[in-house]
Amino acid sequence: MSGDEETMRRAPRRTGGVPELSEMLTARELKAARTLGVADLGHLLRLPPNRYVVPGPLNFLGDMTEGEEVSAVATVRDVRDRSMRNRPGSILSVLIDDGTDAISLTFFLAKAHLVAWHRKNLRPGVRIHVSGTVGNHNGERQIVHPDYVVLDEDHTIDEAMRPIPVYPLRGRVTQAAMRQAFRSALEFAPLLPDVIPSDILREQGLPSLQEALAALHAPHTIDDTRRGMAHLAFEEAFVLQTIFAQRRAADELTPAPPLRAEGPLQGLLRDRLPFTLTQGQEEVAAAIAERISRDMPTSVLLQGDVGSGKTVVALLAMLRAVDSGHQAALLAPTEVLAEQHHRTIMELLGELGRAGRIDGVPEATRVRLLTGSQRVARRRETLLDVTSGEAGLVVGTHALLTESVEFASLGLVVIDEQHRFGVDHRRRLRTRGADGRSPHVVVMTATPIPRSAALAIVGDLDVLSLREMPSRRAGTTSFVVPETQRSWHDRMWERVLEEVRAGRQAFVVCPRINDADETEAPVAPDGGGAPRGVEETYERLRADPRFADVRIGMLHGRLPAEEKQRSMQAMANRELDLLVATTVIEVGVDVPTASAMVVLDAERFGVSQLHQLRGRVGRGEHPGIVFFATTAAPGSESLEHLGRIAGTQDGFELARLDLERRGVGDLVGSQQSGLHRTLRHLDVLHDSEVIEAARTSAAALVAVDADLDAHPGLAEAVDDRLRDADPDVERS
Ligand code: ADP
Ligand code: MG
Repeated sequence: MSGDEETMRRAPRRTGGVPELSEMLTARELKAARTLGVADLGHLLRLPPNRYVVPGPLNFLGDMTEGEEVSAVATVRDVRDRSMRNRPGSILSVLIDDGTDAISLTFFLAKAHLVAWHRKNLRPGVRIHVSGTVGNHNGERQIVHPDYVVLDEDHTIDEAMRPIPVYPLRGRVTQAAMRQAFRSALEFAPLLPDVIPSDILREQGLPSLQEALAALHAPHTIDDTRRGMAHLAFEEAFVLQTIFAQRRAADELTPAPPLRAEGPLQGLLRDRLPFTLTQGQEEVAAAIAERISRDMPTSVLLQGDVGSGKTVVALLAMLRAVDSGHQAALLAPTEVLAEQHHRTIMELLGELGRAGRIDGVPEATRVRLLTGSQRVARRRETLLDVTSGEAGLVVGTHALLTESVEFASLGLVVIDEQHRFGVDHRRRLRTRGADGRSPHVVVMTATPIPRSAALAIVGDLDVLSLREMPSRRAGTTSFVVPETQRSWHDRMWERVLEEVRAGRQAFVVCPRINDADETEAPVAPDGGGAPRGVEETYERLRADPRFADVRIGMLHGRLPAEEKQRSMQAMANRELDLLVATTVIEVGVDVPTASAMVVLDAERFGVSQLHQLRGRVGRGEHPGIVFFATTAAPGSESLEHLGRIAGTQDGFELARLDLERRGVGDLVGSQQSGLHRTLRHLDVLHDSEVIEAARTSAAALVAVDADLDAHPGLAEAVDDRLRDADPDVERS
């Protein structure tokens, strides 16, 4: 899309014909509507009621007993009012009769006009539908302040039995005023433009927008309200998927270098690997290879649990880029992780990554690490390699995207997100490749989420998943250790020592660097109050006679880069037995001989963090054992939650747990566009069929009408949603 078109698209498009709310509603109705924070008719009517009150089956007056909630049809016999004795106002008594008995309705009314209003409605002889709670006054049954509807040709008993919407109220707005506002607004619903084309509605078996809105705000049955909601959910999914389809279409306008070469490096790497790829890895590798062979940029989300073997798959794709005469970049969220990736890649490649060196092979490429903490001279040398194309593979932090690093010919970017979906910065990559071409993008995440959620959140990516774990991984078993159980605690440390004595290594993960960082009062239910900062824990373990022979190290983000590197290296070289660390080890740290982990204050970590953390052990041939030490109270929700995490290994299952507990908003990193945050009607976990169907329909529509010229209502809804989500979104 050109810049001019972009500007035009951003101007609010109005399909015309929809008056302002102020032109449709009375002042009182408008006031009520405004408390809901809506700007126009479309927004107002798309707010569903909180719930509905369904009038119960009719009762006979003769059967009613005190305290009962009742509903009946009866005839007004007599109406009288008298002044209240102790304060201003009147008591209105209305005697009603249904042939089985008669009881009175009582209203305490402060204002004379209210008396007049009820008297006008409740003339003797009219039939009413009345509901309320049966009370007692001087031994006589009565209903105080009942709800009633006068029945006539326009208001039949059928109508009186319909579900009654209950709206959210703010300020001093009454439910009656709010209902009136919606009733009035509903009369203008036919002016609203259709968002979903009618043929798609028919295909989906959904009611039209007008029908849906009527079904929500003036339902005849509860079933109607479900049909109304189904329309809104599909509409929401459809608008989102239209946005994603448009983005994909726009992406495809920039050409990408087709990465089609099958070798030699890819084959040489396969020959070198000490294992064979799992079937899942082969399938995903083939799917990526197929996509990056195209001459338009592809965007893939590769999701798979920690240790599912994403790195090898990504490396094969990167070598495909090099084999095809281009470069590939691998970006990590932190320097520690970038360094780790660099080491892993160098190891996997061996002589294949040592171009120009005596121990390299003729086909070899050069791998460069580019981080902010590198010395100037080294950095300059690296940049030269990147710019000249000498470096086939470049590993760095996400900052590489924002820095003006010039690549000779960038063909593929792999972004390791770990557990965020910062897919927005992915868009900045467009046209960073050679001659205005755009590199292909693979986003890797170790926080797999259900496909439907992925499609709703990052629907412009193709989702590929690695579900099986390579068999070499021994896996882990997790236990929850409540602080209150002293003996369990002792046993936990004993187990850690057993692993260390057997020549394996352990991690102790702390929620913070030092206890002075703690702002809240420390939690110490049993008065124990053991320190839980990295520094204090490190000192404590070193002072503990049980750990006298144990070589203990420390790692956290505030240490100088070199020291961090040294600790990591020492751990990898088995010069340390135990590393006390913050969550900096959460991602990427690969110590195949590590087998034990203690997480202190485990309740402070999120589901995915805990899962990532425990993925650091049991990576080699030795099974891992993980302890979630916690101060969470016995029987608390936190403790139960930890138990559920300890009990499941499947990252997809955990992701679901996390989504159910925290919702989508928290799952997605803050840089992510706000599209998901404005989800109103769609449940990304449970509406998977809706999302899939909307995706298919939207893709088909955008394929023939990318600018939505024939669908002004949809175009308006798309603009609206983008503006609503984030004013910056459209600029990217
Ligand atoms: P991820 O990046 O998904 O967390 P990795 O790619 O780092 O996982 O793989 C975890 C470990 O498993 C690494 O040591 C890797 O070499 C090894 N691995 C990968 N694929 C296989 C396989 N097919 N068989 C055995 N081991 C594998
Ligand atoms: Mg990895």
